[in-house]
Amino acid sequence: MPRKLFIAGNWKMNTGLPDGIELAGKIRDASGANEAVDVGVAPPFVYLREISQVLSQSPIRLGAQNMYCEDNGAYTGEISAEMLKDVGCRFVIVGHSERRHVLGENDELINRKVIKALSDGLDVILCIGELLAQRESGQTNEVVTEQIKIGLEGVPSVCADGKSLSERLTVAYEPVWAIGTGRTATPDQAQQVHEMVRTLLADMYNATVADEVRIQYGGSVKPGNAAELLAQSDIDGALVGGASLKAEDFIAIIEAGVGLKK
Ligand code: PEP
Repeated sequence: MPRKLFIAGNWKMNTGLPDGIELAGKIRDASGANEAVDVGVAPPFVYLREISQVLSQSPIRLGAQNMYCEDNGAYTGEISAEMLKDVGCRFVIVGHSERRHVLGENDELINRKVIKALSDGLDVILCIGELLAQRESGQTNEVVTEQIKIGLEGVPSVCADGKSLSERLTVAYEPVWAIGTGRTATPDQAQQVHEMVRTLLADMYNATVADEVRIQYGGSVKPGNAAELLAQSDIDGALVGGASLKAEDFIAIIEAGVGLKK
């Protein structure tokens, strides 16, 4: 079935306040509501409130790059889902490879975050993806399967708000060797993993959830490769790091998606 694309920018630990506001403003001015693509941005925590004001009259979704899975308490340095909603967030990225491999998050913690975000009303982008050594030793499917199975353990097909999981969850397949390296998975390599993930979701849930859920690709997506990646039948958008920091590049990626009108 045709799925509306979802293209989200992960700003990581980049931008200051003035350039973050300028970037968000340029994206807002260039990308209105359209039938083909949902657009999101995930700035650093400390700029969320201001960026939320910039985006307030636009359909662009505001997201956070991480959250913690408790409501409040002695969790120094952490941020709750309610706090993120307070500053205008609609979605949160969970399990980004930098959280996994630089900051030591495991699948069990990621699972607790997914459950908490969904139950507290934040949509989730759940990131998965294999390391280069894992791909080279033929373990990609095994790694990704485990990340999905543990990451979604105990997550029902219908969320507490009555919405289907497929409306609230996006999966982002981001091969770690392609993130920030300039090395992109080929459209075929990405499509194969996306198809496998969709089949797995059909086994874990049902055909409708699997068919409706959006699976983004992430890993050095740029204006020059976006159209070919997004044209793959199981690639339903992109999670964009480096290229989301340049308004003209991010807008060109969105336009590549709009041009496809899947
Ligand atoms: C990311 O941050 O999720 C990402 C895919 O980064 P980049 O586009 O820079 O590879």
